[in-house]
Amino acid sequence: MKKADIGLIGLGTMGANLALNIAEKGFRIAVFNRTTARTHEFAEEAGPLADNIMPCESLEALVGAIEPPRPIILMVPAGSAVDEQITALDPLLARDDIIIDAGNANFRDTRRRMAALATTGPHFIGMGVSGGEEGARHGPSIMVGGPEDSYRRIEKVLDAIAARYQGQACQAWLGPDGAGHFVKTIHNGIEYADMQMIAEIYGILRDGHGLAAREISPIFARWNEGRLNSYLIEITARVLEAVDPETGNPIVDMILDRAGQKGTGRWSAIEAQSLGIPATAIEAAVAARSLSAMKNEREAAQKRFGVPAPSAGAPSEEKLASLEAALFAGKIVAYAQGFSVMATASREFGWNLPLGTVARIWRAGCIIRSQFLGEIAEAFDGAPETENLLATPAFSAFIEEAHPHLRQVVAQSAESELPVPSLSAALAHFDTFRRARGTANLIQAQRDFFGAHGFERVDRDGSHHGAWHGS
Ligand code: NDP
Repeated sequence: MKKADIGLIGLGTMGANLALNIAEKGFRIAVFNRTTARTHEFAEEAGPLADNIMPCESLEALVGAIEPPRPIILMVPAGSAVDEQITALDPLLARDDIIIDAGNANFRDTRRRMAALATTGPHFIGMGVSGGEEGARHGPSIMVGGPEDSYRRIEKVLDAIAARYQGQACQAWLGPDGAGHFVKTIHNGIEYADMQMIAEIYGILRDGHGLAAREISPIFARWNEGRLNSYLIEITARVLEAVDPETGNPIVDMILDRAGQKGTGRWSAIEAQSLGIPATAIEAAVAARSLSAMKNEREAAQKRFGVPAPSAGAPSEEKLASLEAALFAGKIVAYAQGFSVMATASREFGWNLPLGTVARIWRAGCIIRSQFLGEIAEAFDGAPETENLLATPAFSAFIEEAHPHLRQVVAQSAESELPVPSLSAALAHFDTFRRARGTANLIQAQRDFFGAHGFERVDRDGSHHGAWHGS
């Protein structure tokens, strides 16, 4: 019997769909799942694709079923499950086999695993996969990090299964070691900010203007026809018009306002902080999810402080245009922050991340897919030395036009007691970034006063101290 081209471990939501995608593209795939019943169930559900699927009941059988050198994808929860699988596979594999961790690993774990396997083990690839269940089945965005020659050996499969944007596959090798998982982490951080800003605009329309979900849905649907065109805006419109079959109410009104998080957004904020790069719009989005989880405290606080009833009336066309532009401006800052974090990590870890390519492989397949990412790719291609999106000619023109709207929306929200943490963070970032003389001179003076840390002067070089204590 002909051996498999590739193997996959973990037939959960993502693994099962990725395996079907691979089988559908004509590759033979050997699959293994910890719970054997699931392996058989999967093969039975695969229909005609079952011809390309080889269900295996043990890791030994899986390894034996694949043509060497063997690429094996792990699609199990990030963390100890990945380490367990590597430990179990390592003695069964040859030096030139490749373990591909396709889960949402922390890139620091990927670096550690790669280093541990480097001298004696098989090759190791850290691969970010985005697009959820649908993406895995019909074309995800794939971000690969690890040895380039290992990537070249699986490139054909990845090229076949990835999403396509105008014929181009949304997959790429982005750099050595943890580069792929790092980029996936920042993708998710940007996704948090994008979703949060959309939710903030929804909050203004619901709690400021008193609109019902079914009235807000067409606003997002209309914006999806313009420069905000993206998967997240599209699904927001669809979510807002959906009805709960049990109550007949909009389903969004029946959902508890407590957001979950699995860690990648938080990791983005942590990595931005450890690299010393401001990612405040992303950080605000992560914090907003944490605050959303404090339901009991928020209920008690509302009893204590109250909140104003919606009083703004139906929004005018002018107000809607302003909200649209504010969301666009906020989004620009969040993406600029995410790309700056990637540029800095790239220097720190020696990855040479191609920022234009990152934007290009996010244009389809992933959750933040949008036409906007095509414009980001063009902006970086047109200014290859630039790492700051806000400094590219195209995006500085966009933000110049849109920031007055962001300012107006943030100011009116503050007046109306409506929270817009991510949009406000984006505005504060832009205003701080564009002011040549900031206020850190005072911080330096304070630091020197209490800790003799020294400061630089505007009129000459060197480190100086103030005569704070009379000498
Ligand atoms: P699921 O929970 O649906 O599936 C997990 C799979 O891993 C199951 O097949 C499970 O097997 C197996 N598994 C769990 N623990 C172990 C273990 N200790 N040893 C061996 N196998 C184990 O997860 P998803 O498919 O949603 O996620 C898989 C990975 O993909 C995660 O890293 C996730 O973060 C990432 N991801 C998920 C996305 C999504 O939208 N769901 C999007 C992008 C990435 P068993 O049947 O025996 O329980």
